[in-house]
Amino acid sequence: MNTSIIPDLATYEVWFLTGSQNLYGDDTLRQVAEQSNDVVAALNASSDVPVTVVWKPVLKDAAAIRRIMLEANAADNTVGVIAWMHTFSPAKMWIAGLDALRKPLLHLHTQANVELPWADIDFDFMNLNQAAHGDREFGYIQSRLNVPRKTVVGHVSNPVVQSQVGTWTRAASGWSATRELKLARFGDNMRNVAVTEGDKTEAELRFGVSVNTWGVNELVERVDAASEADVDALVAEYEELYAVVPELRAGGERHESLRYGARIELGLRSFLEEGGFAAFTTSFEDLGGLRQLPGLAVQRLMADGYGFGGEGDWKTAVLIRAAKVMGAGLPGGASLMEDYTYNLVPGEEAILGAHMLEICPSLTTSKPSLEIHPLGIGDREDPVRLVFDTDAGTGVVVALSDMRDRFRLVANKVEVIDLPAPLPHLPVARAVWKPAPDLATSATAWLTAGAAHHTVLSTAIGVEAWEDFAEMARTELLVIDEDTTTRGFAREVKWNAAYYRLAQGI
Ligand code: MN
Repeated sequence: MNTSIIPDLATYEVWFLTGSQNLYGDDTLRQVAEQSNDVVAALNASSDVPVTVVWKPVLKDAAAIRRIMLEANAADNTVGVIAWMHTFSPAKMWIAGLDALRKPLLHLHTQANVELPWADIDFDFMNLNQAAHGDREFGYIQSRLNVPRKTVVGHVSNPVVQSQVGTWTRAASGWSATRELKLARFGDNMRNVAVTEGDKTEAELRFGVSVNTWGVNELVERVDAASEADVDALVAEYEELYAVVPELRAGGERHESLRYGARIELGLRSFLEEGGFAAFTTSFEDLGGLRQLPGLAVQRLMADGYGFGGEGDWKTAVLIRAAKVMGAGLPGGASLMEDYTYNLVPGEEAILGAHMLEICPSLTTSKPSLEIHPLGIGDREDPVRLVFDTDAGTGVVVALSDMRDRFRLVANKVEVIDLPAPLPHLPVARAVWKPAPDLATSATAWLTAGAAHHTVLSTAIGVEAWEDFAEMARTELLVIDEDTTTRGFAREVKWNAAYYRLAQGI
């Protein structure tokens, strides 16, 4: 049964807007329309662009520009607009439209031809192919109005251009999903923990996410109400998908624990589906009548595209949901992760990340093992969980902190590595990674930024998607990568404090 809530990004639209004016005559405007259609066709043909790019008639005056922006705002499946000034489009015409636009904007600074046809260039050619200065006029008004946007430069046949546009469309899709996200919290934050706290009202304004809490016993009622037939079917699915340890299999001495794990999944899923929730949190301090801390169920729901945070951490749950949508269809995955413990052997420095149970199996292409082990935390029966190693490869860890006057995103580029040695006694799923530029610089920067111990680890999307996402959210993003130095990073943190305070106004 397909229970995934990761959208097919091809159902999302990005509108392609071509700017011009009435100065040039019908023949030139006809060519502008044809050539902008060619750009759209090339973007739609690119495997790097997952959304549907929709060509719109050439824009020649302020009223039409404002109208199309208002239509883009109102179209629920339109996640952003791309603008290109093929000819010269006097930018005062764009003021009302850009001021009205509430969807992400990409400025594609391109032109119809790759090579100049030197021997044939006449002034008709010059009239038609003016983006080199038409787009500069557009850049001016975007900067003057302080419009958040991504600028991409180059011919549409260039794979780098296609990749940059495609990544932005992924970010816009993630942003759209965040804007409509409803998040259910079962219980509050872990007592006395600081970084998982946050201003939920401000989050609804900044990110569009609606965060609310339900008593855990509303979930327990659904868990208890799950039918034996549904439990049977789900347990059969587990036995097919996972390497289930003998004690949990039908006839095994702890099979009842697996059945209860299935019951939790059925209860959680029905609660989330009925309420239209795409993210949730749990709290081991508030389990009510639940007999196990949800482990397996949370892992499987994350794999289906739900955002999740442990210990009431709704901010990380938001990031995971965004990452799930941004990475739709790509190899790799996204999961809650926690920096747990270090290998500090010189030259082999690495971070072992895990959580008490809830790591998403989208991080592995291997067959997870379904096991049961004791867990002191939560004071309940032993919980069932999937155990696996995360696939090696490039990834990014991202955290969201509430700095009191604003939200702050921090992203660290990482290289997930194969386990240096087996972990036969670690009863949870895990990942081992080397953070860029090195562990000491990375951790110094992370601590300087006040970034959280909970993150989303994404191996499907990278830093660029988060940069685009942060721009759309008008939210601070500090990046730790191969170019980071502790001195430069500390300065950036201080400068950002001044910038974001000033940018808020009074
Ligand atoms: Mn935790």
